[in-house]
Amino acid sequence: MIIAIYPGSFDPITNGHIDVVIRAARLFSKVIIGVFEKPTKNVTFSLEERLEMARLAVVNTPNIVVQPFGGLAVDFARQVNAHVMVRGLRVSADFEREFDMGMMNRKLSPELELVCFMARPEYQFLRSSLLKEVARLGGNITDLVPAHVARALDKKKGV
Ligand code: ADP
Repeated sequence: MIIAIYPGSFDPITNGHIDVVIRAARLFSKVIIGVFEKPTKNVTFSLEERLEMARLAVVNTPNIVVQPFGGLAVDFARQVNAHVMVRGLRVSADFEREFDMGMMNRKLSPELELVCFMARPEYQFLRSSLLKEVARLGGNITDLVPAHVARALDKKKGV
């Protein structure tokens, strides 16, 4: 039984994240989406909102669960007995950052294996910050997030 964690801020969860986690759930017995409680970057959605949106997004995949975590992702992995950390890679943005983070995590926790999924072409450009900017300015984001996330973004517009 291989347990994987998929850590991130998920502010909010997008179809790019969902594609990665569903692919991971086909490979591993259980995938735990770890929603980081206090990211260094400014978040738009509260922890409860980010958890709720992530939970609703994966409600039809029983071997995916969503949990908050506070400290290092490697410590979270230990707490939940995970042997794998899943991350997503978009061609331009992610490689160097993920490589550095992967090396640091390997130093902190050599037994934890990193598995990166390449983002699908249609989600290569999709990141939560850009999505929020487009939503705020009234752009059409319906192909990029589940309907409940689109509604939540719409509500934040006036805030
Ligand atoms: P972080 O706060 O660490 O940047 P995110 O919540 O933005 O985390 O993303 C979590 C993981 O999902 C990261 O590995 C990130 O590269 C990946 N990811 C984000 N957007 C996409 C996407 N559109 N397609 C595939 N992977 C993605």
